[in-house]
Amino acid sequence: MSDSKSLSSHLWDFSDLYRNAVLQLEEAATTMRLDPNIAERLKVPKRALIVSVPIRLDDGTIKVFEGYRVQHNMTLGPGKGGIRFHPEVNLSEVAGLAMLMTFKCSLVGLPLGGAKGGIRVDPSQLSRQEAQALTRRYTSEINMIIGPDKDIPAPDVGTDGQHMAWMMDTFSQEKGFAVPGVVTGKPIEIGGSLGRAESTGRGVVYTIQHAAKHLAAIGKPAVKLDGSTTVSVHGFGKVGAVAALEIYHLGAKVVAVSDVSGGIYNKNGLNIPDVLKHVSRNKVLAGYPEAETISNEDLLALPVDVLIPAAIDGVITEKNVSRVKAKIIAEGANGPITTDALKVLEERGAFIIPDVLCNAGGVIVSYFEWVQGMQNFFWSENEVNAKLAEVMENAFRKVIEIQQSYRCGMKTAALIAGVDRLNRAMLLRGLFP
Ligand code: GLU
Repeated sequence: MSDSKSLSSHLWDFSDLYRNAVLQLEEAATTMRLDPNIAERLKVPKRALIVSVPIRLDDGTIKVFEGYRVQHNMTLGPGKGGIRFHPEVNLSEVAGLAMLMTFKCSLVGLPLGGAKGGIRVDPSQLSRQEAQALTRRYTSEINMIIGPDKDIPAPDVGTDGQHMAWMMDTFSQEKGFAVPGVVTGKPIEIGGSLGRAESTGRGVVYTIQHAAKHLAAIGKPAVKLDGSTTVSVHGFGKVGAVAALEIYHLGAKVVAVSDVSGGIYNKNGLNIPDVLKHVSRNKVLAGYPEAETISNEDLLALPVDVLIPAAIDGVITEKNVSRVKAKIIAEGANGPITTDALKVLEERGAFIIPDVLCNAGGVIVSYFEWVQGMQNFFWSENEVNAKLAEVMENAFRKVIEIQQSYRCGMKTAALIAGVDRLNRAMLLRGLFP
């Protein structure tokens, strides 16, 4: 018994992200008194595929990259989750991210399971042709486990709609007909959904609005999301840039944003539309004239009302958490706060909007895209946004109800919300054979 347990944990648990995901699950399981058989089952993924992805580089040489697709749980429906291109991606991290997708999809009520994929590559070093070859060969290598009814990839860190278009085309070429439902986050022209590209950032801001209302309702100092509220955004990418723009349009003062080139800070508030123009011209934030520079580390320590870590996992850790002063921390990225750091933040009364709730807008609109594609009937952007807002509001309310009835932290409450639905489904379906 104990042998098989240690064997399975050795295979997966070498990354901090995976360990943190398991710790969060354990905390939720203890708090909700989850059936221990279900808890054990959820600590390990259902299936994982490791593939070698050889491509010819522009200089004529052949390089082999390592790729993964992990399906954590598919009780509620096909696997769902993004494909990450990052130099440090590994099997364990992808497995941890797949686990978070399971809880995220369950929490927001989608008929989807949790999966994740990745290629260990620095996408900034690839030409367009190399990126295309890598994406196509990877798709071909994992094609036996993906499909509209099996597992549906989407963009994640380092990938976007163009990668999804290549994936859709490769899968379709191999089938002999167009299969748009194999991926979501596609460009509109080939079956994407209006509002998908902005959905994660938009959802982040919806949850911040709900958090502000909730804090006022329980008598905490008001965060009004007007000019009196300061915001900093770590990671000015697909999620962070949209969140910054949305919260700027609400009237809040976005004082700092950052990317790989470092951060920019203006105590009077940055003009986000202008910052976006600078980035579209120069690719990075560095050199933006109307601001001082600030390091990524110092940005996290600003005394702001709202901090949105929207870059990558493990940015707020036990090492820097004592410097973090924000009142509301909205986890735009997956796993930006480690479990140790989370405890410290919760003890000092910070309000955490957990990743599985905060950034669920992306997968929610991915689901809408999949549904629209299956019906060949596409919705207006207003319709997409209204439905997104409704799903996110229900999920937020559910998490608050659980947080209040168990008197636990928001992270644990969000996990309980996800695990509870899944638990009931797993018990109903039973164990095969
Ligand atoms: N990569 C996103 C996430 O982590 C979106 C996944 C999806 O749309 O399937 O939630």
